[in-house]
Amino acid sequence: MLRGMRNLFLLAAALAVAAFHGHAASPARPNVVVILADDLGYGDLGCYGHPTIRTPHLDRMAAEGMRFTDFYSAAEVCTPSRAALLTGRYPVRSGMAHDRFRVLRNRSTGHLPAGELTLAEALKTRGYATGMVGKWHLGVWSINPAGHPRRHGFDTFLGLPHSNDMDPAAAAPRGAPGRPDQDPAWWNAPLYRNEDLVARPADQTQLTRRYTDEAVRFIRDHRQQPFFLYVAHTFPHVPLFASGAFRGTSRRGLYGDVVEELDWSVGQVLETLRREGLAENTFVFFSSDNGPWLIMNQQGGSAGLLREGKGSTWEGGMRVPGIAWWPGHIPGGAVNTNLASLLDLFPTALTFAGGTPPPQRPLDGFDLSDTLLRGAPGPRDTMFFYRGTRLFAARHGRWKLHLWTQKGYGQPQPDAHEPPLLFDVNADPGESFNLSARHPEAVADVLKQIEKHRATLTTAPSQLESVEPPAAKPQADPSPRR
Ligand code: MG
Repeated sequence: MLRGMRNLFLLAAALAVAAFHGHAASPARPNVVVILADDLGYGDLGCYGHPTIRTPHLDRMAAEGMRFTDFYSAAEVCTPSRAALLTGRYPVRSGMAHDRFRVLRNRSTGHLPAGELTLAEALKTRGYATGMVGKWHLGVWSINPAGHPRRHGFDTFLGLPHSNDMDPAAAAPRGAPGRPDQDPAWWNAPLYRNEDLVARPADQTQLTRRYTDEAVRFIRDHRQQPFFLYVAHTFPHVPLFASGAFRGTSRRGLYGDVVEELDWSVGQVLETLRREGLAENTFVFFSSDNGPWLIMNQQGGSAGLLREGKGSTWEGGMRVPGIAWWPGHIPGGAVNTNLASLLDLFPTALTFAGGTPPPQRPLDGFDLSDTLLRGAPGPRDTMFFYRGTRLFAARHGRWKLHLWTQKGYGQPQPDAHEPPLLFDVNADPGESFNLSARHPEAVADVLKQIEKHRATLTTAPSQLESVEPPAAKPQADPSPRR
């Protein structure tokens, strides 16, 4: 009897130790999956409070993982934000921040510099297979082959070189009466597999589906080795398109249809990981490249209670959803209120892979592994908000200081603030009440953080030169229109 009880006790102790180790110790080289939405706002998901967009798969991902309340993209528009995600560096360091009105267009000659180290390249040195699906927006390889994702660490690629609104079939300004934005045939976006054009125009109603199939296939094909998969969705960037299964189904209208299809796609990826037995060996992160494109009216998303959206350094332009998932390692149902950013995915994923960032290269990302796995306080206490190369604002702890602000997307003239505007973004996330007169010590403190940050900066030359298409010579179209 006693011996039986002792054996039971030993068994229970062994199980407890196994459970502890299972939770605390990370498997060597987990897979890494980053899923990025385009222009999805802070308030656009069920788990971030949207009342009518249904996102059961992302809500479940958050319930099984960790949802960040204060997660920032690293720029207010697409290209610099993606450069920051892949390099862990503010875009001023790589030259990807310049000239925001010509942020890599479909005729741009610039691209992510070869000297930058991408997360894909860093993980390859740790033995990872690397694949990308979706929108690249860091170089147009039909103009300059050095801009292709396969020149920047990805083994395989399926997707578009840039945004889905950059190849209209005819020149007509946005909002022009009669412009057929909702006719998929009017857009001429090219879809590539690796270097090969597979369709032009890409059927945008099928893009989310196609990306999803590709992501699922990539996971199945690489189940035996560590992999890094970067799924950068084309939507909900306008023009909006959903497949037949989703079109007309959301109470939020077309924008809701599109987000609900993205949610389905996330569900397919997570379900594939579960089915293949990879869930407990895969770190997945979901986010958005910048805030909602509010000037698109009902076709733009929502920043929830945050001020402004895409193109702006108010909170709505850069605070975005951030959800981490790694069953058995990241505690389920956790809400993390630490500051964190897309910049942090580079050093975090590299730490999980057992690597370290090269020491000579200034890095703006912080390793979040302790806060993700053990709920430790986050290592980040500042966030800097740039438009182009100009530092508009900075956050330090609860305080956010604006030196410059911008009214709405695309307005040419920003406003300078002297003294700067100060908001307590914990108490006032909507940035409504300027406290600079009441808290001069906080103003001084954030200014000191800005000076410290500036002392580390050597800005790189612009990589975003743009050339206009030749006036008389129409572009050759290498495949028949469908
Ligand atoms: Mg975007």
